[in-house]
Amino acid sequence: MLQECKNTIINNYSDVLEQMSKSTDDFLFFFDIKQDKNHFFGNIKKEYSICEGKTNLFTISELLKIVHPSDQKIFEDSFNCAIQNKKDYFDTKCRLINKSGKSIWVKCSANVIKDENGEPLFMAGRISESALRHLCNPLTGLFNQIKLINDLNKEINSNNNRYLMLIDIDDLSAINLSHGRDYGDMLLKLLAKKLEEISDGNGIYHAERNYFALSLEKKSDEIARIYDEIQCFMADKCTISAGVVPMNNSLFKDGTSLFDTAKLVLRKAKQKGHNSIEFFSDEEIKRKIASLELLEEFYESVNNGFVGFELYYQPQVKSGNYSLYSAEALLRYTSKSGKKVFPDEFIPLLEQSKLIVPVGMWVLETALTKCKEWRKTIPDMHVSVNFSLIQFKEKSIVEDVLAVVSKVGVTPDCLTAEITESVNLNEAKDFVAKVKRLKDSGVQIAIDDFGTGYSNIGYLKQMSIDEIKIDRSFIQGIEEGTYNFKIVSNTLDFAKMNSIRVCCEGVETTQELSVLESRSPDLIQGYLFNRPCNVSDFEDCYINSSSEKYHKMEEFITELYQHRAKSGIISFNTKDILSQTNVGLWVIRMNPKTNYKELHIDETMERIMGIDKKYTPKECYDFWYERICTEYIEYVEKNFNIMQDKDKIIQLQYSWKHPQLGEIVVRSNVKRCPDSNGMVVFEGYHRILTNIEEV
Ligand code: C2E
Ligand code: CA
Ligand code: CA
Repeated sequence: MLQECKNTIINNYSDVLEQMSKSTDDFLFFFDIKQDKNHFFGNIKKEYSICEGKTNLFTISELLKIVHPSDQKIFEDSFNCAIQNKKDYFDTKCRLINKSGKSIWVKCSANVIKDENGEPLFMAGRISESALRHLCNPLTGLFNQIKLINDLNKEINSNNNRYLMLIDIDDLSAINLSHGRDYGDMLLKLLAKKLEEISDGNGIYHAERNYFALSLEKKSDEIARIYDEIQCFMADKCTISAGVVPMNNSLFKDGTSLFDTAKLVLRKAKQKGHNSIEFFSDEEIKRKIASLELLEEFYESVNNGFVGFELYYQPQVKSGNYSLYSAEALLRYTSKSGKKVFPDEFIPLLEQSKLIVPVGMWVLETALTKCKEWRKTIPDMHVSVNFSLIQFKEKSIVEDVLAVVSKVGVTPDCLTAEITESVNLNEAKDFVAKVKRLKDSGVQIAIDDFGTGYSNIGYLKQMSIDEIKIDRSFIQGIEEGTYNFKIVSNTLDFAKMNSIRVCCEGVETTQELSVLESRSPDLIQGYLFNRPCNVSDFEDCYINSSSEKYHKMEEFITELYQHRAKSGIISFNTKDILSQTNVGLWVIRMNPKTNYKELHIDETMERIMGIDKKYTPKECYDFWYERICTEYIEYVEKNFNIMQDKDKIIQLQYSWKHPQLGEIVVRSNVKRCPDSNGMVVFEGYHRILTNIEEV
């Protein structure tokens, strides 16, 4: 081509580009391939250290000097493709380094202008900062979350062995608060620089304010080493945590789910106490994916008559005669693939998605409907239904429950609502108020998994609940340890005093049953009697008296009676016996030097002495002593004096002025005990002889 002709083309383009550059922030250029001369339009010199001289003309190698070293190869390759006539255009993304040393992502694009033989002569195009600005983090200039997700979407589909490493600075908010935001920004920039250095500037993103992401094609031990290096680099300023997820294409639907998973893993690293790296195992990923699929099924099921959900029932039998008291409804799910799924796996999903609200109502209605039917055979049958705390967050939960009770047509006392004590009830006033309203309307309330959560006994009293279910962790192997036995015993004592029913959960063996029965709980539930079973099995065991399973159950219960008789375990509930036969227990403590005396009495004694207000032990002694009929005072004192010297049990029988019954005859058996704190101690029982029937 003639030089003249070429000059005309150059001039024409230059004129147009010159004009256009006035209306854009992009740097337009015109490149003469043969001459290696690049003419820029627009003020590229202002921001970049290029063509420091007067002209706007410079060579490609000069231009390359402002391209980030890590991107120079990509830039050159793409450029060479165009000038060597392999492509009709030049198109690449790279970073330029500006005058203050900051990397700026730019999009470079140009068209190739060829001569009549198809030989490349010129390139006309632009370098644009703004084209990529929406994809860059303004603080560090790194690609942002939008670009990350876009790139992840591509990576996921290409079968590779890459990992996504998400990194953040521990407690950045606290650092900002204590050292100022500028300091926090400085740390972020420093970390960004280090990450750029490590990754050669590729596959690095500043996703959200404190999330950096690296896409790495490395083995996991190499990734751990990279993390160590970053950690060391930042160590004197802050600590960092990292979460790593493999970009295995079969496991993630899209970039977002991969990124979200990386966030979860990072959070796990933080939960482990910061300053650490956490890898997501394949197993965990599979579990997560499976649970997401399950959740989708649940949404479908809820809109489709709760298909797949089923209630299993586990009996609660009365301690002693093992007759049926109630059935606990336990939810099961069969997935579309036919797999049976258990509550421990899916209840958390239902709770997180709040699907537990409709599903819980379905459970309630299904269980109550069954109970109504069973009541035709067993008139005092009950059902126990588990309630999640999420359900109690619903404003209308109480009304909703009562509406179901009335729709089904049963009395509210058919239902025991089981609630776990996994919240600090003291902090959940709204929850407690709702539970109380439910109770006031006749529904029975049970505290589930008792002993594993927060409940303090006083608080339960305040809630006036009906039943305590002692968690199976206290029941299992109870015959072997005294600790669990003590806890169960104390709970039973407290419950009896407050007329609360106690159900022991998870009873699996006859040994456990025997030990428990020595403390007379009200109800027993566990595999020993039945595992949770479907309606048909449950009815065969407890409702259909002609079924084989029903007879087997009867036989089993007879065996249990025989076992109990043989092992000779007869439960003596001493407290009950004493209370019911009106035998009160007492302790007198006296100081012989000062003649100070006090009387301690148990609840039965308080009752049978007709005491109707709280006395101090000293007042209690006076109350008792002053009511001894005058003619017996000397007799009582004489015997106490004898006992001071002799180690004997003495029986006293004397007349005593009862505040309500008048003069009565009482009897005490007394024994002196070892002294305590310098006090002489007597203990004994007290009973009223008057009006006791002798046959
Ligand atoms: P939970 O309320 O404590 O229910 C008792 C769990 O103990 C049941 O597990 C039952 O199968 C198991 N179990 C009963 N006896 C024994 C035994 O002797 N030995 C052993 N090892 N285990 C025994 P399941 O059915 O897997 O239910 C687990 C939990 O899921 C339940 O614990 C309950 O918290 C929850 N859940 C079940 N159904 C529902 C429901 O409809 N709604 C809500 N909110 N939660 C439910
Ligand atoms: Ca339960
Ligand atoms: Ca339980």
